[in-house]
Amino acid sequence: MSKGITPWEFELEHVDYARIVEEFGLQPMTPELLGRIRNPHRLFKRNLIFAHRDFDRILDAQETGQNFVVLTGMMPSGRFHFGHKLIAELMAWYQEQGVMLYIPVSDIEAHVIREIDMETCRDITINEYILNYMALGVDLVDNRKCCLYSQWKNDLVRNLSFKAASKVTFSQMHAIYGFSNSDNMGKIFFPLIDASDILHPQLPETGGIKPVLVPVGIDQDPHLRLTRDIAPRFGMIKPSSIYTKMMSGLQGPGTKMSSSKPETAIFLSDSIEMAKAKLKDAFTGGRETIQEQKKLGGQPEKCVIYEFLLFHFEDELLKSTYDKCTSGTLLCGECKAIVSDRIAEFLTEIQKKREEAKSLLPKVLDNQSF
Ligand code: SF4
Repeated sequence: MSKGITPWEFELEHVDYARIVEEFGLQPMTPELLGRIRNPHRLFKRNLIFAHRDFDRILDAQETGQNFVVLTGMMPSGRFHFGHKLIAELMAWYQEQGVMLYIPVSDIEAHVIREIDMETCRDITINEYILNYMALGVDLVDNRKCCLYSQWKNDLVRNLSFKAASKVTFSQMHAIYGFSNSDNMGKIFFPLIDASDILHPQLPETGGIKPVLVPVGIDQDPHLRLTRDIAPRFGMIKPSSIYTKMMSGLQGPGTKMSSSKPETAIFLSDSIEMAKAKLKDAFTGGRETIQEQKKLGGQPEKCVIYEFLLFHFEDELLKSTYDKCTSGTLLCGECKAIVSDRIAEFLTEIQKKREEAKSLLPKVLDNQSF
């Protein structure tokens, strides 16, 4: 293994995260902060959570036994893939430690902005999100551990969004979101609903002022910036956030996984055959010829197959693949077969758990406001 690089400190080559931290005005995740996390989740250990805003406030709360909550949204616009899995696992990890979760279903956004009809939104939320969240270990049944709600049905959030509207000017919104003249008013108003989702756990009706942590992808940062601007105007604490690195699409570094483009991602509801076929065509960091690969070793930092191991699977497989790849003793065909089998094993297990979760669905729908 190269000096200074371990599989969990490994940098993917295609995104300049240091530049993102600087441009977005984020705080880098430091070894000092990471050292304060008890039994850190894989995403922390492997440096896959690269930046934050005020995460130290969450660690302070944890260390002093102060109440805090974790919030992330479900966007019911498409199928649930391995990228979505990361946030769901992080939510399960916090819930296991006794932290209350808030999960707004962004059905107003899906309907008003993405023009998805309500029935489809509901169907996607249940079959793609709720069942996979439960299969990944999030308890959505017990509403003392998790508050899952539809944005349409949450009066607290809706009312707060009107009050928030009076605290923000159009020029502030424009500076954050850069709207164009052809954007409809729904798109302009919607961020205030999103901000209200994040703020409402601090209302008196939900237990009052407390730190709120929002794990997100960097694309969601504008909502955090808006919410952090608004929070002090209600006498609330600015929300904290942590940012996960993005997995590449199957076409290679720099491409994106998309729920609407099945060839770009593996969905948790893909059949084993489908997943294996997609992986067979996935981009690797292999060399032009077998001779070159044996001589120079492969390039895991450019490899989508390696990313699956880095983001999702156990240390032993990650380390042995890295070592064999970079020393040229593993060729891409063989490596793809090993990783495909590991993913197939995971999919078989998760699909079984999703079936089991179906029996709990009526309780989720009874207990939650969805
Ligand atoms: Fe990627 Fe595996 Fe090929 Fe290395 S051997 S480049 S990890 S597919």
